[in-house]
Amino acid sequence: MARIALKVDVDTWRGTRLGVPALVDLFRAEGADATFLFSLGPDHTGRAVLRALRPGFLKKVARTSVLEHYGLRTLLYGMLLPGPDIGLREAPLLRSVRDAGFEVGVHCWDHVRWQDHLLREDDAWAAREMARAVKRFTEIFGCPPRVHGAAGWQFHDGAARAEAAQEIRSASDVRGTHPFVPVNAAGETLGPTQFPTTLPTLDELIGLDGADAGNVHTRLLERTAGQSQDQVFTLHAELEGQRLMPVLSRLMAGWVRQGHTLVALRTLEWAAHGMTLPRHTIVQQEVPGRSGRLAVQGPCIG
Ligand SMILES: [Zn+2]
Repeated sequence: MARIALKVDVDTWRGTRLGVPALVDLFRAEGADATFLFSLGPDHTGRAVLRALRPGFLKKVARTSVLEHYGLRTLLYGMLLPGPDIGLREAPLLRSVRDAGFEVGVHCWDHVRWQDHLLREDDAWAAREMARAVKRFTEIFGCPPRVHGAAGWQFHDGAARAEAAQEIRSASDVRGTHPFVPVNAAGETLGPTQFPTTLPTLDELIGLDGADAGNVHTRLLERTAGQSQDQVFTLHAELEGQRLMPVLSRLMAGWVRQGHTLVALRTLEWAAHGMTLPRHTIVQQEVPGRSGRLAVQGPCIG
């Protein structure tokens, strides 16, 4: 059967403090490996409230009860309360995740800033933001990061070049179907190998076709039954590490019953080592269940 890489996006201070330790305990109890990608700078989640003005977001709030997941305090950071600096406050906790044997990497410096600005700013902006996150990661862990997974799947060619400049070795920044080398339209390599998120997230499925927080695992298990292709599943410390943990636990048990192995991204990277991977562009597309457009694996280029 397949390997399923568990990629944990940690977006907020609250998710870092509460969700991460709970997920570490769950993964250890189940014998699962995973990759934790941290937000390393200020938590400005409250600025995401401004996104309420964008079409699609209100529907998502209603469907997944964002307030209940993130908590009122978190939603006020960057609006009425100063944004706490996650990396400064939680360095020992972040190190404890690595010391427990899990893979750790960079999600972002400032999640809200990256999500809201990446596609509007130039390549130098992306390089600066990534450099800040890499510097903080190196201060916390005593070595530079090897893996990067972009906040909110907001990513483009310039960000891939920034990863190469920061000597990131592997990445999971986009949605897609299989590992690839990111290239531009001219076929030039942009950055490290991409291991895209291949499965929908739980919050994208909840509210669709009768899926709820009690049964949504069955939708994913239907997709992976009998499948032998490696998968990447993204979960959030704020959701699966808190309110959605019971259904995550059922999902993991179901995957093990189906014969799959739960791994970190590095396991897929090792498996791809020495292989000639296809070369694909990165495009911006809508993804069912998410507002706005995300970076998606584009067409294969020669
Ligand atoms: Zn995120």
